[in-house]
Amino acid sequence: MSLELFNTLTRKKSPFRPLEAGQVKLYTCGPTVYDTAHIGNMRTFIFEDLLRRYLTYAGYKVLHVMNITDVDDKTIERAIREDRDLQELTGHYTESFIADLATLNILPAQHLPRATEFVAEMAAGIETLVQKGHAYATPDGSVFFDISSFDGYGQLVNLQPDQQRAGERTAEDDYGKDQAADFALWKAHKPSDGPYQWPSPWGPGRPGWHMECSIMSTHFLGPHFDIHCGGVDNIFPHHENEIAQSRCLFGTPFVETWLHSEHLIVDGEKMSKSRGNFYTLADILDRGYSAAAVRYTLLTTHYRQQLNFTFAKVAESQKALNRLRELARRLEQASDGAGGEEVPAPDAELRAALDNDLNIAGALGAIFGWAKELFGRLDGQTLGPAGARAALEALRRYDEILGCIFVNEAAGDAAAIEALLKERNAARSAGDWARADAIRDELAGQGIILEDGAEGTVWKRG
Ligand code: AMP
Ligand code: ZN
Repeated sequence: MSLELFNTLTRKKSPFRPLEAGQVKLYTCGPTVYDTAHIGNMRTFIFEDLLRRYLTYAGYKVLHVMNITDVDDKTIERAIREDRDLQELTGHYTESFIADLATLNILPAQHLPRATEFVAEMAAGIETLVQKGHAYATPDGSVFFDISSFDGYGQLVNLQPDQQRAGERTAEDDYGKDQAADFALWKAHKPSDGPYQWPSPWGPGRPGWHMECSIMSTHFLGPHFDIHCGGVDNIFPHHENEIAQSRCLFGTPFVETWLHSEHLIVDGEKMSKSRGNFYTLADILDRGYSAAAVRYTLLTTHYRQQLNFTFAKVAESQKALNRLRELARRLEQASDGAGGEEVPAPDAELRAALDNDLNIAGALGAIFGWAKELFGRLDGQTLGPAGARAALEALRRYDEILGCIFVNEAAGDAAAIEALLKERNAARSAGDWARADAIRDELAGQGIILEDGAEGTVWKRG
């Protein structure tokens, strides 16, 4: 069997074939950097990481782009409310997001474009849409997309023509399906936007959120690419509008496969900033759980099922990981010398499970079944060194996909951070700046930021 994925656009599972043999072009919607990401957001980013790691495991070269939304309604509103510079605010939360990715062992995209770097390109794209008759300016200097100008509007979310309010307008970035109307491509500057504005043929303003992703994805991946992902809340209006804009702008097909992960929920409700029912990664690590256990928790429920977050689940995840790590330790111990038969590793079962729309539970079932057999052989001393070495190699291979067995356990652990900080202070006192800097870099790689002040050095999670 080959990889099959559930495409939101066609509402069915179908074989995945990249447009260009051997190469997958992947775009994943990144965070809106007005606050620290919560672990609900992280669930989506971990699903996308699983997809990317599995595509790579299956032999594809993956070109991955993730945007950073550093200008939109929310970022501007927050900067003004807190009297902070927009760039300083979004720069801070971008750093903190990148640090969280590192802590959770999520592979960073090859390109992480910031929306503010592409405003001129967005304005040019909007101008083309106006010229082609898909968009129109309003007297205040905003530009709206005319949804009646695109026959395919509503396909992703299955909106019927009588559910579309063509001619009516919505200026919001985010709105419900029942408000499906002409949407803003360019938003004229208004006093409540403070100093944040960019020039355009229609006067000062800023791009709409949807336009940002249409331009940044196609800038790096071309107008027609393989996979676009996000959480299910992105399906409408964000991705529906992206399809309309991109198809009308370039006159080509846009994305072949749309994948959406279900939400992380708490007590039956979506985890979200606005509901106040969220945890950040730092909240969980501060309670003594490891980053790897958080990753495992978010990774191991199928991406199209909701996942109810509980601390008991994180504790269970830690136990599962401990078992696989114990296996690694014992295989290592047993691997010196020669001889002994190999226990067949479950590569084929693992591939079959993951080929089935990333059935992670099936893949883990295969790994744990095999682990049980190996433990039995290790206990009975019937696994020779060659068998142990081959099994260890297989476990390392599987962790290329899981990303949570052979990781630096000290990452994110407060005691280990303190110990490194102490060592850095000693190095600084001794004038060993190279060592002090190396420790700073090591901690940065774990998502820990150091601040040197008059009172000494304090650390915080990024
Ligand atoms: P945002 O920063 O709000 O633009 O969200 C970044 C990503 O996280 C998007 O792909 C959202 O769909 C996703 N997301 C937001 N809340 C959740 C949640 N509770 N569970 C899973 N994914 C989420
Ligand atoms: Zn997006």
